[in-house]
Amino acid sequence: MQLIDIGVNLTNPAFDEQHGDLLQRAITAGVAQMVVTGTSGEVSERALELAEQLDPHGHRLFTTAGVHPHEAKGWDADTQRRIEALLGHPRVRAVGECGLDFNRDFSPRPMQERALEEQLALAARYNLPVFLHERDAAPRLVAMLREWRGRLTGAVVHCFTADRNELFAYLDMDLHIGITGWICDERRGSHLHPLVGSIPRGRLMLETDAPYLLPRTLRPKPKSGRNEPAFLPEVLREVAHHRGETEADLAAHTSATARAFFHLPTPPASH
Ligand SMILES: [Zn+2]
Repeated sequence: MQLIDIGVNLTNPAFDEQHGDLLQRAITAGVAQMVVTGTSGEVSERALELAEQLDPHGHRLFTTAGVHPHEAKGWDADTQRRIEALLGHPRVRAVGECGLDFNRDFSPRPMQERALEEQLALAARYNLPVFLHERDAAPRLVAMLREWRGRLTGAVVHCFTADRNELFAYLDMDLHIGITGWICDERRGSHLHPLVGSIPRGRLMLETDAPYLLPRTLRPKPKSGRNEPAFLPEVLREVAHHRGETEADLAAHTSATARAFFHLPTPPASH
């Protein structure tokens, strides 16, 4: 069984200096490839450096380059140049993480919209898919994407946590959907249980969003309390259960979808 984790915050300080072990545990757990998330100019540059250092052959680690809505207040011409410089690199497979977060509002909404708009323009120009973040902002995101969708090769709403209407609005625009261990959280994720079965094959991908969102159903719980790509099988297990699919079947179709979406090569045989 081979899995692909489409959202790993590998540059997060929680993983300090233990990246080699982390990658090995992921491979042992069947996670053959990972897409490392960029969230600012600096994080996106660091993500690419780390991916090159840990996976010199370019078989397993790929990255995104972009500015998260929390960081949108820092979007300026210099940031745009830094992101754009990364987009020409063959290992950078998507623009993002970008989007709208009206839940925490760490950046003023007009700034979030401007940063998103300019990143959608970059994605269109570089023919790259978009890795989107959305919290409590679906109507506005849908409105903005409506303007851009025809020029984008693809877009995934990562860590989908919204409701049925929003899911169907995204699917109607032919977007992809990323599901994390949020679905394993009985306090705030159980509304996803009846929804995941409505995501067509070919549109669904899996992610940990590590080190965040440790699946609450995971046993034994790691002492660190930190999520990592090796725990993606727990997300697989939960999603397979609620879709009425076998884990092997779900792993096969979500990995095929991720490989096509991010244009990933066939990974080396792992174990
Ligand atoms: Zn996010």
